[in-house]
Amino acid sequence: MAFDAAPRRADRDARDVTRLRRDYGLTTSLPPVADVVVIGGGIVGTATALELARQGLHPVIVELADALANLTTANASANVRSDYGSRAEVALVNDSLAFYGDFAARTGLGHDEGEIGFARHGGMFATLEADGVARLQALVDRQRALGVVDAVVVPGDDARRDHPWLAPTVTAVMVRPGDGWLDAVQATELMARASGATICLDTAVEDFVVRDGRLTGLRTSRGVISTERAVIATGPFIGTLVRTPLPIRLYRRHRLTVGHHPAIPQGAPLTVDLDQRAYWRPGRDGAVLAWPRDVSSGPPLSPVPVDPSFPESILRDPNGVQRVSPFWRTVAAELPRSGWHLVAGQFDVTPDGGPIIDELSDRRGIWINGGYSGQGVIASPAGSRLLAELMVGIRGPEDNPFRLARFPEEPLPAGGGSSARLRSVRA
Ligand SMILES: Cc1cc2nc3c(=O)[nH]c(=O)nc-3n(C[C@H](O)[C@H](O)[C@H](O)COP(=O)(O)OP(=O)(O)OC[C@H]3O[C@@H](n4cnc5c(N)ncnc54)[C@H](O)[C@@H]3O)c2cc1C
Repeated sequence: MAFDAAPRRADRDARDVTRLRRDYGLTTSLPPVADVVVIGGGIVGTATALELARQGLHPVIVELADALANLTTANASANVRSDYGSRAEVALVNDSLAFYGDFAARTGLGHDEGEIGFARHGGMFATLEADGVARLQALVDRQRALGVVDAVVVPGDDARRDHPWLAPTVTAVMVRPGDGWLDAVQATELMARASGATICLDTAVEDFVVRDGRLTGLRTSRGVISTERAVIATGPFIGTLVRTPLPIRLYRRHRLTVGHHPAIPQGAPLTVDLDQRAYWRPGRDGAVLAWPRDVSSGPPLSPVPVDPSFPESILRDPNGVQRVSPFWRTVAAELPRSGWHLVAGQFDVTPDGGPIIDELSDRRGIWINGGYSGQGVIASPAGSRLLAELMVGIRGPEDNPFRLARFPEEPLPAGGGSSARLRSVRA
């Protein structure tokens, strides 16, 4: 394999643990007691810690790896976009977009420290279908009804005036100026810092101690920690700890990063082929590309192995990124493969594409924050606020659109429960 296929830690070189110890509440010994324990130090876990801290709790984050943002979060494309399938999901995403847009102030970190690389280049969703304008207008109307307010349809010729690199076959694009992308690893670390949480790395939560249906503590690889409240935010590993079947399926997704090439327009928006679902966006002086195509679900993995044929396929297949942005043909031929960097992670997909944010009914005190279905970066700030408000009783359970009980207790359909709707819209 001539390109770099690192399975994890895609976004960083060796971690500076000394810096972490200074900047965060990193500890080498497990505290004996906690207000609340957050299990998992990905973006969902640290967003949870931040929101719990805002409610006056002191969280302890327990992470089995030796760094935060180690698993799925490290490999995310980290696009933040507001096209989701229900009014409740759109509200979650819009709230999170507002949070990220005002990150420094909302976290109290200030502008020097609260920098998450939020690039608001907008999103552009292209179609080659003959009736593209009408189709996209129908999509915009549906999205508007759900609360997406900034989407507009632009005919292909007009879109090419602003973006001359668009294929002549593009008939129409939907543009959403509020979309963009950010550095998910940086956001994760900064939320951890802003939360003031105590952070125990290299520590695996193995089981729960439950008495009379209520949580009293956690068994970890470093001993027991007493607590009456814990949040499982372990991404693809959520089912391993819950130990009762959850309506979540795991799908492998790849992200390819390529280096600088003069043909890659660095001012471009997130550019999505709505028909074939391949997308790309500028990033790190080059570009980030993805094409969600795997259809079979599997068990949780760490690390997630990559399919070495992915780069060739997204760059050279006529239905890959070149379909909407033909300059990729040139770039694929000219860019040295040594500058290609391929990673994979797992989407944790629920039947309706919304997250599961709830307390387990048979083991009070144990909460779930997961099943973000490929939108954990964009939806977790607001999802975690909802969880924190439910936990402290500011919100009642009836005011929770993401409760576990919304799913019937039936097995998911073969091939995944992500539904055609999810697959057709979310890339
Ligand atoms: C290729 C790709 C592209 C994506 N693109 C986007 C995007 O553009 N926009 C978007 O919003 N989302 C995107 N996502 C989805 C997003 O990355 C995830 O929804 C999000 O990162 C999930 O975060 P998490 O904290 O739940 O999981 P993770 O980041 O996986 O974190 C879970 C943590 O729990 C830890 N853990 C597991 N078990 C235990 C245990 N027993 N004890 C202690 N710790 C444990 C793990 O070590 C891990 O660090 C993408 C994902 C992939 C793979």
